[in-house]
Amino acid sequence: MVSGEQIIYLDNNATTQLDPAVIEEMLPFLTQYYGNPSSGYTFGRQVRQAIDLARERVAALLGCEPGEIVFTSCGTESNNAAVNSALRLSPTRQHVVTTAVEHSATRRHCETVEKCGGSVTVLDVDCEGNIDLEELERAITPQTAIITAMWANNETGVLFPVEKIAEIARRKRVLFHTDAIQTVGKIPIRLADSTLNSLALSAHKLHGPKGVGALYVNKRSAFKPSMIGGSQEKNRRAGTENVASIVALGKAAECAMATLAEENTRVRALRDRFEAALLERVPDTFVNGGRADRLPNTTNLSFEGIESDAALVMFDRHQLCCSAGSACRTGAVETSHVLSAMKVPAERARASMRFSFGRFNTDADVDKALEIIPAVIAKLRALSPASPAREPAAV
Ligand code: PLP
Repeated sequence: MVSGEQIIYLDNNATTQLDPAVIEEMLPFLTQYYGNPSSGYTFGRQVRQAIDLARERVAALLGCEPGEIVFTSCGTESNNAAVNSALRLSPTRQHVVTTAVEHSATRRHCETVEKCGGSVTVLDVDCEGNIDLEELERAITPQTAIITAMWANNETGVLFPVEKIAEIARRKRVLFHTDAIQTVGKIPIRLADSTLNSLALSAHKLHGPKGVGALYVNKRSAFKPSMIGGSQEKNRRAGTENVASIVALGKAAECAMATLAEENTRVRALRDRFEAALLERVPDTFVNGGRADRLPNTTNLSFEGIESDAALVMFDRHQLCCSAGSACRTGAVETSHVLSAMKVPAERARASMRFSFGRFNTDADVDKALEIIPAVIAKLRALSPASPAREPAAV
């Protein structure tokens, strides 16, 4: 097993390290306080109180009311539940507007909506990953039930103008859901001032555990549940609560809230130093979505002339973790749908890597990564027949 202490972890958009304060808070709910939160005796009621506290903490991070938070099993469930609810609310409105760069938690779900008789309009993005708000407005029809668009892109960090989208949706009287799974904990959010109808988040992207998430549902928005059964979560999501994980999500939200401002500057500085150094030291390197409004922690770089799959293998030998923009599956190279939508040429998309920083990254991580990456890229370019001859480096 490779332990977290040995690696240089630059893949915080994939998942994050659990904050020790989160582990400390959740453990007693796996050992001592195992009561069912729906039970009427004190041993159950105290667990209910812990869930209530978690709800308050998540609401504080989002700037909304605790009653607007529904705990779920993950970000995917939250996204699915919001769209399903909109489609169930009105049988005559079965049209969904979405974008070409969504995570599969939305993309594949929209494909299913189409297979079940609904219709979906997929909005294109420009070369920087931005959508055209006029096109969005034109896509809305009397049959539109919901717009679902991500707040921050998981591959590039590009931010959509969700407040403007929410305003269009309100004016056109359609619902708007945002997948904020990469956004929550990274930039300030204040939903009380917003006309968003719903928002999805996932604990494992903000130093909480995997397998727990939440859905914000605006108190003025109607909601039809996907999970039917008990009356948990005020009838919005049946099933006995995953107590320890919910407690952990609450603590993760509290930690994110406490560190947001400082982290934003510190993590942004790490990302910016890393990106600037690579642009300087590695010729023919491009930042995908670099001119758009972006998350402070993400950079998506194309190192012309390499295959990102091969780079990933070599980085792995140096215990450097990041993501490839393309993957070789069953003999064919699958390029990122996000980069394809941004019209990044296929070769450049296949040469792209995502590096994402987080709370536990340090300047030392950046220094080590900057020793490894230019040398690996130079070696791969030297090996590549398509590449102009460049100086091979010792790796
Ligand atoms: N949406 C986005 C933008 C994501 O980055 C992810 C996870 O990578 C998901 C949805 C899915 O979240 P979860 O893993 O909690 O289901």
